[in-house]
Amino acid sequence: MKIWKDQILKETGQLQEELVQWRRNLHRHPEVGFELEFTKGFVKEKLIEMGCEPADCGKCGLVVLLGKPGKRTILLRADMDALPITEEAEIDYVSQCEGYMHGCGHDMHTAMLLGAAKVLKAHEGELCGQVKLMFQPAEEIFAGSHDMIEAGVLENPHVDAAMTLHVTTGVPLPVGFLRVPEGGTGTSSSDEFHIIVNGKGGHGAMPHLSVDPINVMSHICIALQEIHAREVPAGEFLVITPGIFQAGKASNIIADQAEMYGTIRTGDQKMVEFAKRRITEISESVAKTFRATAEVSFAKSCPPMIADHDMAAAARKYMTELLEHAVIPPVNDTPKVAGGSEDFAYVSCEVPTIGMFLGAGNSREGAIYPQHHPKAEFDDSVLSRGAAVYAYMAVRWLEENGLSVSCRSLN
Ligand SMILES: [Zn+2]
Ligand SMILES: [Zn+2]
Repeated sequence: MKIWKDQILKETGQLQEELVQWRRNLHRHPEVGFELEFTKGFVKEKLIEMGCEPADCGKCGLVVLLGKPGKRTILLRADMDALPITEEAEIDYVSQCEGYMHGCGHDMHTAMLLGAAKVLKAHEGELCGQVKLMFQPAEEIFAGSHDMIEAGVLENPHVDAAMTLHVTTGVPLPVGFLRVPEGGTGTSSSDEFHIIVNGKGGHGAMPHLSVDPINVMSHICIALQEIHAREVPAGEFLVITPGIFQAGKASNIIADQAEMYGTIRTGDQKMVEFAKRRITEISESVAKTFRATAEVSFAKSCPPMIADHDMAAAARKYMTELLEHAVIPPVNDTPKVAGGSEDFAYVSCEVPTIGMFLGAGNSREGAIYPQHHPKAEFDDSVLSRGAAVYAYMAVRWLEENGLSVSCRSLN
């Protein structure tokens, strides 16, 4: 264990300058969704230079397998996509692609996992099992992880455990500090609802001859608030937010139709099903009460991300070995479920998973803008540390869960 720690910290530390160059190159060339031609090409080229054999997976993903066939396989994942926003950060490696920016730090993750790949490749023969590297597209649209699962990323060989890492900025996690969540729900699910109310249009002066869909939708909008207020136990996490409410074209015309779009956020798949059922029942019955009809549909779903209890405990142990005091202890006032969503949740539904957070800038250090902001900045001095977190998680997990007793005793 001691040998691995020193080895990995030393080797990732030596890569720091190279990782900064890789990350800044990726930062200058942000791409979104599944359209990652430059990014995927760059990652593939670097992996081949290291002697890895990257394989295409799904619409735009890459998979690398390292180690020797054994009883167990651990998956390490980095997302590679950027956001459709114009960068306003004052840095000399600012985005060269108008309208696109690595505003969530996925360029950092990609460089870190490449660094881990280089170190793990150099020690391939000493691993007690296999490491599968997953470079995924389209996290920001909650589609890339699911697409790679459909394409078989969790099989051949079967993945037994999975880990991911996300950098943070603009939040109170100091640079280089690591937060390892406790077991349980980590990030919330995200589901979109869409309601159409069909009324009967007419003259604004004669509402009795019409069925006003704006009035009906207003009653539905208020009624939906009662789901959380009156049907969910106090302390349970559920948010139902109408984000779009639209109808009508003129002040003196009663419209035919009204539409509403909104989002459901919670930490429990059963709660998602409950909310969907009640939104449908309430919308249809309120519409019927006022002589209209309602059509309800749902789209763009991402399940809640679940941190596996054993993986969380293992990650905390390994990371404390590696980074000592730089691992933030669990705090009681941290909300159980974060409001944001993360599409690695799809993997967490299939295999024991842990997702960790690495501080890469906060307001005390002058990084006052949060992720997804046009002025968000990330401190790339943490790149080698991120690479070490990925690599150390894999070697230690395999050491304790991997091949055989004899292999364990070697290290
Ligand atoms: Zn993001
Ligand atoms: Zn992100």
